[in-house]
Amino acid sequence: MNAIEFVEKARKKEIDIVEHTHKVLEKLEKINREFHYFNTISAELAIQQAEKLAKSPKGKLCGLPVSVKDCICVKGVETTAGSKILKGYKPVFNATAVENAINEGAIIIGKTSQDEFGFGSFNTNTGIDFEIPKNPFDASRVCGGSSGGSAGITQAADFPHISIAESTGGSIACPASFCGIVGITPTYGLVSRYGLIDYASSLDKIGVMAKTADECRMMIDVIKGNDANDSTSLKEDYKEGNVANIAVLKEALDVDETVKKTILSCLEKNGIEYDIISLPLAAKYSNPAYYLIATSEASTNLAKFCGFKYGAEFSLDDSFNALFSNARSACFGKEAKRRILLGTFARMAGFREAFYLKALKARTMIIREYKEAFKHYDLLVCPTMPITSPKIDEISRLSPLKSYMMDVLTVGPNLAGLPHLSITAGFSNRLPVGMMAIADHLNEGALFSFGSGIEQA
Ligand code: GLN
Repeated sequence: MNAIEFVEKARKKEIDIVEHTHKVLEKLEKINREFHYFNTISAELAIQQAEKLAKSPKGKLCGLPVSVKDCICVKGVETTAGSKILKGYKPVFNATAVENAINEGAIIIGKTSQDEFGFGSFNTNTGIDFEIPKNPFDASRVCGGSSGGSAGITQAADFPHISIAESTGGSIACPASFCGIVGITPTYGLVSRYGLIDYASSLDKIGVMAKTADECRMMIDVIKGNDANDSTSLKEDYKEGNVANIAVLKEALDVDETVKKTILSCLEKNGIEYDIISLPLAAKYSNPAYYLIATSEASTNLAKFCGFKYGAEFSLDDSFNALFSNARSACFGKEAKRRILLGTFARMAGFREAFYLKALKARTMIIREYKEAFKHYDLLVCPTMPITSPKIDEISRLSPLKSYMMDVLTVGPNLAGLPHLSITAGFSNRLPVGMMAIADHLNEGALFSFGSGIEQA
């Protein structure tokens, strides 16, 4: 039973929501012991919500188990963004996306694992004292990052379920591809960021992971919408779009040979005709521009985590400076520290012109290049990741730069705020291969119809 059928049945009282929620929680405990998809399972909240709903079942997500990435605030439930520095932080409010989902009858089952603050592509940069989630297809491999827990549980769940996740530079698409599910990253601003713990404010988007494109649409329709609490949230809605013209990105075919073959043969099998076009600026400059802008913004956004205001508390027996450095030294993981240093450097007086400002200019040029392509095409298609899921122990041998290079395909649409959907094109050596479709701003409709077309075929 998929999530859409489940909700219909729950609304007609054909499903005992309380009993179902108990069963789901039992399963989660068991899965989590081995696979570590959750930082927190919110059993108490879930049962409370189920009991309330059972009395008068209603809503577009009636009784549906929904997981939430750990950087998105859920009232009263520990929310850490995967960082030790936020251990013990229980928000006093719900993120708007979560609030909207709860108002439509969602049962919040827990907070999913992620790279600390979203800093990674494999979910192996988990914060100090957090476990690494394992790929449901092969436990020696990664789930992808940074929303690895959301992707893992979405694939592993044998019950109807949808996850609310987040992407800054590919954190929904990448794990969706490694775990063989569907991930939608909407247009920047379609879903309110209120209650999202920032990584890089000009890039962060809340999105959805599910087993099908229709389920993704169901959740986006609930969580989207203008929000007075987020000045960057859009007044416009997405539109329904047809998919007449498709282009495959030439530079993006320079990937693992089996990945390339799987993508092209999926398009062929589905009778999808396409042109091959080149986006040279996006291909060359997306990655460096992204890593400069993202780390610059992250380095200022993380300044508020000082062992004083939220989460982990340190006592003041020395100066404020000593307190802040002790807390940050003890609680931030290695990658978080690296990114704070990189971002601080990139926007320092004397270097700002050469790095941060240049990256902003590159970003504008990349956006123009995409916009030009959308004058001729409804969708741009490419592999989501250059490889299938690597082994956990292979990642520790990658240099930071090599690891950043893995995002070469996903950072472009994220920099440009363009909606994109990752869907499984096929399998290679029993591992899923993700295919990404990118649409123009607010053309999510085209992505959903492309996705469900492929699923039906
Ligand atoms: N892998 C990218 C990074 O490390 C994207 C992460 C994200 O989208 N949160 O920045």
